[in-house]
Amino acid sequence: MTKTTQTKTYHAGPMLCMQGQGVVKGYAIGKAVVMGVTALEVDHYRISPETVSAECERLRNAMAAARDELRRLAETLPADAPRELGPLLTVHSLLLDDSTLIGQVCDLITHQHYNAEWALTTQGQLLEEQFAIMSDDYLRERGSDIRQVIERVLRVLSGTSGSAIHDLDTPDSGESLIVVARDISPADMLRLRDGRFSAFLTDLGGPASHTAIVARSMNVPAVVGLGHFRGLVRDGDMLVVDGFTGSVLVNPSPYILDEYVQRQADFLRERQELVRLRDAPAVTIDGVAVELHANIEQPDEARLALDAGADGIGLFRTEFLFMNRRELPSEEEQFNAYADVVRVMQGRPVTIRTLDVGADKGLDEDVVVATNPALGLRAIRYCLANPEVFVTQLRALLRASRFGHIRILIPMLTNVHEVHEVRQALQAAKEQLMAHGHDAAFDVSLGAMVETPATAIAIEPFAETLDFLSIGTNDLIQYTLAVDRGDGEVAHLYDPLHPAVLRLIANVINAGERYGIPVAMCGEMAGSAELARLLLGLGLTSFSMHPQQLLDVKKEITGAHSTALRAAVASALNRSERIHLSALD
Ligand code: PEP
Ligand code: MG
Repeated sequence: MTKTTQTKTYHAGPMLCMQGQGVVKGYAIGKAVVMGVTALEVDHYRISPETVSAECERLRNAMAAARDELRRLAETLPADAPRELGPLLTVHSLLLDDSTLIGQVCDLITHQHYNAEWALTTQGQLLEEQFAIMSDDYLRERGSDIRQVIERVLRVLSGTSGSAIHDLDTPDSGESLIVVARDISPADMLRLRDGRFSAFLTDLGGPASHTAIVARSMNVPAVVGLGHFRGLVRDGDMLVVDGFTGSVLVNPSPYILDEYVQRQADFLRERQELVRLRDAPAVTIDGVAVELHANIEQPDEARLALDAGADGIGLFRTEFLFMNRRELPSEEEQFNAYADVVRVMQGRPVTIRTLDVGADKGLDEDVVVATNPALGLRAIRYCLANPEVFVTQLRALLRASRFGHIRILIPMLTNVHEVHEVRQALQAAKEQLMAHGHDAAFDVSLGAMVETPATAIAIEPFAETLDFLSIGTNDLIQYTLAVDRGDGEVAHLYDPLHPAVLRLIANVINAGERYGIPVAMCGEMAGSAELARLLLGLGLTSFSMHPQQLLDVKKEITGAHSTALRAAVASALNRSERIHLSALD
């Protein structure tokens, strides 16, 4: 929880402003608590050849002690610990178990006669460099796991505990405190999660760093990537953190401090008002009821959807169950995952998308990459080419439908014959289940993701034969504008407001109205509060988004007049004009 600042007295050091990357929104005002020892601060010296084996032994003991500490922490995780922490602690203790790492560091001690600390930091830097050049953002950031594990061992070698925050075990004084660190390991994050801290600031890290992931789950403002900030701040300096812009002010003037106290109070009031909206219906001023659903990637996120007041799950991206593993998930494993979500959602509709792999989401690193994977064997094309994988998933979905309302969503349908092939596969899955003693009363609806311009333009046969449609704007924009959604070089051309994109969306929504079938949107556009009025103006009445975006969108909807927006948007679209969002306020 963010603490408001009551006092205006502050440390009178020099004023400083630093810019990092805001990864959790919010403001914090409080005193700096600068976290300890880093890899850069260890002794570097050569040992004599006779002491090599003793030095290796010292290293092994320190690694074992650090591993024991991590295991103890993992075993005593409190029930309310962020769910990411358990697996992260396991990764760290596995790194300490890695015989290659121990072997390589001992080689440096044996052949170069480095002391253990020097050998450990040298090997760590090598590994970090290897991670730094990886093209995958997530893997690149995992280089920080290596660094954090090494720093833990260094602290054991230096005679302190493995934690960088042993000196912070002070009782909660009620004062607002802000952690300033080079980086924060998951294990240390655990010790910091007790509500004593109003913000986290780190020199390293990006949006997928542990600090960002865990701070987000704790809802505490965080700024990462601050460069050399830790070296510039002293314990007790007064800090102002702006998690929106990523700026951090050190010892600001009383005038600026007042301004941020006000901003913080306004922000907290807005959040409290938003929470009140949780159980309020999402209805426009002129009485149009809107459904707000949640996008999830793992079964345990269904709980977040429910907590945010979602009307159902609008998109369960099942491909995440299939990734980072050697064997595909069995029917039983999939059945349990789908049934869990359906049970948690207590009768609300659960839209489960069949496997959407290919393009940016590969299952197997060894598979030869297609010349143009975004236009290749992906999504439903992959599934129809691999009937065993597809029918296994369909069997699991049909079985799970016994526990509630499952809507099967097919990604990237582009040709009507693909709908017929999907129906055949569904029929085969039903027959296989019946042959194994299941009775025939499966109740699922079948829908299409509208992700290609072809489908959006020639939507009628899909609207005629399917039970629902869901617009996947992430891909629809990429295919309509010929802009790779993952390519930073052309990110400025990725434009949700392009008239061509809006006309396609309007075409799909209109077809839904004519054919009497529900049309939802589950791409990122649906979760943007700034675009909510525009989408209402296009006639959208079912939005699906990350659970944490739900209340912001609901707020926009309850303050909007749908009829007026529909007239304004229709006239702009007819004139093929670029829509200015400010004209819809
Ligand atoms: C989309 O394309 O809009 C979508 C929701 O699917 P994904 O982002 O998983 O491709
Ligand atoms: Mg998509």
